[in-house]
Amino acid sequence: MISILCPCYNEEKALPIFIQRITETISKIPEEFEIVFVNDGSTDSTLDLLTSYSSKDSRVKVVDFSRNFGKEAALTAALDYASGDAVIPIDADLQDPPELIAEMIAKWHEGYDVVLARRADRSSDSWPKRFTAKMFYKVHNAISNPHIPENVGDFRLMDRAVIEALKQCRESYRYMKGLFAWAGFRTFTLDYARRPRTEGTTKFNGWRLWNDAINSITSFSIAPLTIWLYVGTLILSLAFMYLAFIFLRQLITAQTAPGYASIVCMILFFGGLNLIGIGLLGQYLGRTYIESKQRPVYIVRKVYGDTK
Ligand code: UDP
Ligand code: MG
Repeated sequence: MISILCPCYNEEKALPIFIQRITETISKIPEEFEIVFVNDGSTDSTLDLLTSYSSKDSRVKVVDFSRNFGKEAALTAALDYASGDAVIPIDADLQDPPELIAEMIAKWHEGYDVVLARRADRSSDSWPKRFTAKMFYKVHNAISNPHIPENVGDFRLMDRAVIEALKQCRESYRYMKGLFAWAGFRTFTLDYARRPRTEGTTKFNGWRLWNDAINSITSFSIAPLTIWLYVGTLILSLAFMYLAFIFLRQLITAQTAPGYASIVCMILFFGGLNLIGIGLLGQYLGRTYIESKQRPVYIVRKVYGDTK
């Protein structure tokens, strides 16, 4: 059996088209299916729509969160509640074409554990989004291990073995794409063109994406912490050279120059540098603090439809 996983947050406009397209797609595939929806604290009629689908179709399950926990938590819950031999997370807005599912399953039967869907054509995204995405992959992959494949979203097929591996990761700061990459396994990549959203608007604005980027980098790399060792060493050695220079000059010329400008420059420079370093430490310390509480990643209000 294959589990289709769909996190939903205020998707009342997109859902009717989505459910129609997805049932159409899976009816053409001989495999058995279930669809696990996670209602991530929607404030519109998303839950009513989902429960009505679930009462009409026994393959549809709905996990209802107590509030909005974010897409990463919703995906985590979907993975926990899925009972399929393979899972395919997909967005409700049909930006990921369901037609690719058949191809993914074919590759899975060939023996691949993970089948990625790469956005070969992102022209449906605005250019600032494409540009910042590119920069993000560059920075992330330069300093983090393992590398995350470029332009690959959550839309992919994963074998049960991969899911069991992922279930062991219970950290609070979750970056699913990073965790998926971290798990490894035999991987095949399919290309597709990213579609524009069918209905509704994106939930990820610039600020949220920026926070996601910080999240993923600090989750998978401590290079931003280590770099201060080198920056500090470099500046200290430069400072020593300058000190030696001043000392010698004092001995030779015995002049007492005011030196106001250079002092102010140095105070400002090192003040800024210190603050950045402390801020960075704060990022990691804050994360350690949150993780140390070991709170659950999400809270379920109710589950609709039979889950095993
Ligand atoms: N989503 C969610 N919780 C959130 C935000 C988004 O479950 O807090 C879901 C949303 O309903 C959609 C998917 O995550 O199914 C992707 O969201 P969106 O299309 O807004 O992101 P984009 O495609 O613009 O990156
Ligand atoms: Mg979308």
